[in-house]
Amino acid sequence: MNQITTFPRTEEFERAKSFLDSLSLAYTLVSPCPGYERVGVPSLVVDEETRMKLTQAMGAEVVCSGWVDYQPSKTLVPAVGPPSFEEDILGTCAIMVLAPCVADLTRIRLIAHLSGNLAAVFPYLNAKMPRAMFCNEAGTFTFMDEYRLISLYDQRITIAKADELVDAWRTLERIRCRVNETWRRRGEIKPCYELRKKPPALEIYKRLPGTNCRACGEKTCLAFAVSLWSGEVKPSLCTPIFSGEHEHLKTPFLEICSSLGLSDVAFKDSKEQTKPPFRLDFFSTNDQSQ
Ligand code: SF4
Repeated sequence: MNQITTFPRTEEFERAKSFLDSLSLAYTLVSPCPGYERVGVPSLVVDEETRMKLTQAMGAEVVCSGWVDYQPSKTLVPAVGPPSFEEDILGTCAIMVLAPCVADLTRIRLIAHLSGNLAAVFPYLNAKMPRAMFCNEAGTFTFMDEYRLISLYDQRITIAKADELVDAWRTLERIRCRVNETWRRRGEIKPCYELRKKPPALEIYKRLPGTNCRACGEKTCLAFAVSLWSGEVKPSLCTPIFSGEHEHLKTPFLEICSSLGLSDVAFKDSKEQTKPPFRLDFFSTNDQSQ
């Protein structure tokens, strides 16, 4: 199956493309321009053999965000550029992590770093989105966009369960418009600092090992998820996630805990893993570690 990768910056895309051109290796280009040009950079679709050549030849010289199985998008990139805002508090996005979704391997997840800062808009979003979860202390704002789970941080956005890359760009652009429009209208909105509804326990459960090993003291993983959701237990009690056997679940588990404001395990571990540079072969299609 062909695979797609994207890049945090256009320069890295250009470097990878130049390499493929120099060896006349086939690829398909998927561009976010013009409609999603503020939230993505052009991406490359290659077969497994070309991916290996690219990886072996350039290795650490090319930074990419990760690889996932390529699925053609059902929607088109808009033929006009994105709207501009007098004050753009989100800025531009650099997709640092692209990987299969842990909860559903047919979908993708990503982490985008922002040039702007969203912290000031959270209380206004909280006032306008009563079904979202806002944790002022943790600095997170989490909500569902249909089946997609989205968490906003001050300079970071995580999306789980996007259909494919174009859908992810479209989701990021929708977020960009929503936060900037809310910020533009903030004079008409009474900010709300109230802690809102927590994400469903099922979303936590999907990020647990599912072995019902009882190491946490609960009879099942689902019981642990419900207890964690209601604030009765600490994340670190699920030792299989932190002791090696199921360590690939650590990052997504810490992210959902972070959006709940549960932090007996320092979230900085997860943040560290989102920093560049990643080698081209850092994430394979079957790697669920992000
Ligand atoms: S320790 Fe983790 S894997 Fe074991 S039952 Fe508890 S939640 Fe499930």
